[in-house]
Amino acid sequence: MNDTLIKILYMISCIFFIRGIKLLGKTATARKGNFYSAVGMLIAVVTVLVQKDVMSAWSFDAAKAPFGVSILANGYVRIAAAVLIGTVIGAIWSKKVQMTGMPELVALFNGFGGLSSLLVALTQYIAAPKGDAFSAVSLGLTIAIGAVAFTGSLVAWGKLSGKMTFKGWVIPAKNAVNGVLCVLGLVAIVAYSFFNAENPFGLAEIEKFGVIASTVIFLLLGFTMVIPIGGGDMPVIISFLNALSGLAAAFAGFAINNTVLVVSGCLVGASGLILTLIMCKAMNRTFASLLFKTFGGAKKKGAAGPAKEPKAMSVEDAYMILEAAKSVVVVPGYGMAVAQAQHAVKELSDKLEANGAEVNFAIHPVAGRMPGHMNVLLAEANVPYEQLKTSDEMNPQMSNVDVAIVIGANDVVNPDAINDESSPLYGMPIVNAHEARTVFVLKRGKGTGFSGVENPLFTNDNTVMIYGDAKQTVSQLVSEFDSE
Ligand code: NDP
Repeated sequence: MNDTLIKILYMISCIFFIRGIKLLGKTATARKGNFYSAVGMLIAVVTVLVQKDVMSAWSFDAAKAPFGVSILANGYVRIAAAVLIGTVIGAIWSKKVQMTGMPELVALFNGFGGLSSLLVALTQYIAAPKGDAFSAVSLGLTIAIGAVAFTGSLVAWGKLSGKMTFKGWVIPAKNAVNGVLCVLGLVAIVAYSFFNAENPFGLAEIEKFGVIASTVIFLLLGFTMVIPIGGGDMPVIISFLNALSGLAAAFAGFAINNTVLVVSGCLVGASGLILTLIMCKAMNRTFASLLFKTFGGAKKKGAAGPAKEPKAMSVEDAYMILEAAKSVVVVPGYGMAVAQAQHAVKELSDKLEANGAEVNFAIHPVAGRMPGHMNVLLAEANVPYEQLKTSDEMNPQMSNVDVAIVIGANDVVNPDAINDESSPLYGMPIVNAHEARTVFVLKRGKGTGFSGVENPLFTNDNTVMIYGDAKQTVSQLVSEFDSE
């Protein structure tokens, strides 16, 4: 295919990616954004297949067919088989995955992204002659970042899904260990990039050693980097690993001289990094503390339990208070997602509005188990976007709110995060639900949140607990309004 046409097709594909990522920025246009990005990817894949002349390059020699199946001698058949298998697994998985399981799935995707870049780099090393110093360094960095993203994401997936807890795994002098691994890995990359048969030392073997050593070292670094991270900092590290997988793809693009890979990798890398910084801000962490401190793994306090017992209230009594409320704020959290209560919550919001109350939703940036989790659920239930407020927007008005209804949220409304320096959550901005005149907390029992720390909000004088599954409780409140 003509070179100019290839470039034009790559450019069209990049435009689709950029438009797609722009549309993904708003819940209302996110589906369209996904579609645009998928079309961009299709154009890119077809262009690469044609440009590299995959059809003629692959062997048609039936004698070399894998497993003696002659049709598999055809390169396109093999690609189609791989695409088919991947599509079936992906389709089944995406249908089966619960919304609450999304973060670990995203973590796994990041890992596969990193692994793909790593494999591209290794294949390029094995199959193609070494390029100039720039391409060689790019290849080395692809190995480094791809490997870290791969094993780091595997650990994140294991932790989030509860399949690997790594409880009791302590890495002594973590920063020093990671620092040494990083330096050794970079030395190995330099060895690969700048030593070859023609160098004054004639050390061709160093090249091979550089590739193998950097692969092993950076795979190890992914483990040592993510294992010490726990608790509430997981979302930030997942976002950071996502940025790394994009960066690895961008470097792979330089290494194999493919523009569209550079552009798409940079888009993923940049958006992942922006999200990481936003989440760092939301959790009051600096980017440096994300990388170098043992974050989120601090000792959990509250083993002795809260000093006071929380007060419980019946749905009927809660209804009486809600009926008189003129201003209500709903604070959703992970429990709302577990209970799939979003539609019932929308119904309750409609009833309250019909009753003359002003209703808003205070959305904490890390409520739930993935960025934007609450927004997605509430948008699915057709809650108008104007009602979805950030915690920063709602907090200044909280003292004028008659009732704050905390639905399955815990860590994101824990006042210790702003009052108690010894709390592992200290420093994370929260939704100041405790400042409302009355606080309803809807949860099933006395379970702690993701971080595992006690929440003094539940024993405040202005707080009442309404125990039960969030969907059932909210539906009962709706019925109370209906029966009037
Ligand atoms: P939490 O995980 O702190 O608390 C959820 C609460 O929901 C629990 O206390 C639980 O109590 C209650 N709950 C569970 N199921 C139900 C149900 N069916 N009905 C009613 N209540 C229920 O949630 P938050 O949203 O407040 O905080 C999110 C936490 O997750 C933060 O620590 C954040 O850092 C972390 N995180 C966030 C990610 C993100 O990207 N957003 C990703 C990974 C982690 P009980 O068992 O008593 O019912």
